Amino acid sequence: MSTTASSRSVVDLSGCPVIDDHCHGFRVAELLDRDPDGWEDRLTMMGMCAASSGSDDPRIAAQIRSLRDETMFALTCRRWLAGFLRAPAESAALAAARHAAFCAEGAGYVARLLADQHVVAVIADDGYPRPAVTRAEFEEALGARRGADGSVRGTAVYRIARIEPWVAELQDRGLSFSDFEAAFEARLDEAAADPLLVGYKSIVAYRTGLDVGAPTRAETAAAYEAWRASGWVDDRGPGKTVRDSLLRSTLGAARRHDRVVHLHVGGGDPDIVLAHARPQDVFPLLHDHMDQPVVLIHGGYPWMTEAAYIASILPFVYVDLSEFLPWASLGADRELEMLLGVVPAGKLLYGSDEASEPEVFWVAARLARAALERVLSGAVERDHVTAAEAGRIGRGVLAGNTARLHGLEIGSGG
Ligand SMILES: [Zn+2]
Repeated sequence: MSTTASSRSVVDLSGCPVIDDHCHGFRVAELLDRDPDGWEDRLTMMGMCAASSGSDDPRIAAQIRSLRDETMFALTCRRWLAGFLRAPAESAALAAARHAAFCAEGAGYVARLLADQHVVAVIADDGYPRPAVTRAEFEEALGARRGADGSVRGTAVYRIARIEPWVAELQDRGLSFSDFEAAFEARLDEAAADPLLVGYKSIVAYRTGLDVGAPTRAETAAAYEAWRASGWVDDRGPGKTVRDSLLRSTLGAARRHDRVVHLHVGGGDPDIVLAHARPQDVFPLLHDHMDQPVVLIHGGYPWMTEAAYIASILPFVYVDLSEFLPWASLGADRELEMLLGVVPAGKLLYGSDEASEPEVFWVAARLARAALERVLSGAVERDHVTAAEAGRIGRGVLAGNTARLHGLEIGSGG
């Protein structure tokens, strides 16, 4: 049974496949090791961010717990999951029912959530968590089975390779600049040998900011020596020059290997360099690579209007909706309406930014599907588009656009 209430919508997207263009891997055994009563905290933006920024402060954890019942998103998850599990919509009872189901079914529980929302494929950013969950491990955690011919029963996992862990790994080796540069290029090329690698990812917004310069090779070499002498301090001095140069090399590799670049743009967890994380900061870099596909991961959230404007004038800039969906919660409709109006809808890509618990996949897909139905139905009622056009646009945002951009096959989900 689908849990999407779309019976009154002019635009009905129930049953429509979903491809999640941005999420993070997990292993079922590790999820089951966590405190079962904390799952609601880990679902929220604040709880997930505390984990991803490495916080273990008990005062922060207690504050997140105390906000649980006042967080719209947490309350929605509680209500919806209670319906899915036929359990009471009360925190402790639901946590127990959820833990029992997850323990009993393992990856089968994850698969059941994904199947309910027709999530047929996901693109996993391998940079978080660390050590990396491999693509194959994650596919197993989602309860999928891949046949010898490559066909997948369940939710297929594609990989996006993050460049920053490569930089950290190479820093530890004490290389000369030319060896560092060659080793980084080799990483880019080796990754592209994997047919299930759909692109490269950078989180330079978490390191030195999105205002990426265009240093010459000589400037980069000099900056590298200064950066190494500093003990690899990530301020906006020499380290920034080197990181900017490496990101430009990455765009070169993406062109060479016909891959997409995913760039974290906008807010994130508390480690973000917020003063240099806006879409406008990265505009010069995007402008320099106008004919190359670049996805603004998180769509610049909370500066989505800036991202929308950029995607409306630069033909190959795409807008990922993750983070905003699902955590904007009630605010989803308003921003979706703006984005659908401003950006060619074929460049809007559904994503969840799941980075904690499997229910994020399920809630995000359900929330996005319903919000798209409402917003697109409104567009039909106001005579902007026909119902058929609106349905096509909605299906594109949920799956088709990501599949086309990254060269994925859309399966039935098994
Ligand atoms: Zn993410």
